[in-house]
Amino acid sequence: MPTYVYKCRECTEQFELNRPMSASADPASCPDGHADTVKLLTTVGVSRGGAAPAPSGGGGGGGCCGGGCCG
Ligand SMILES: [Zn+2]
Repeated sequence: MPTYVYKCRECTEQFELNRPMSASADPASCPDGHADTVKLLTTVGVSRGGAAPAPSGGGGGGGCCGGGCCG
């Protein structure tokens, strides 16, 4: 089952969820209960080593990146 990484735009917390691909587009609330989250990247259980890769723009989820609002 893929691991999806989300970031809360309210508290900037990042969190991971294991969920089926069919549910990848479902809303994900952060651990603090905020619903304003954005999906960052998907890992499929394969570790590439090294630091976390920078999420490429346009993940197809309507992210907020594009105007430089993401740190
Ligand atoms: Zn939050």
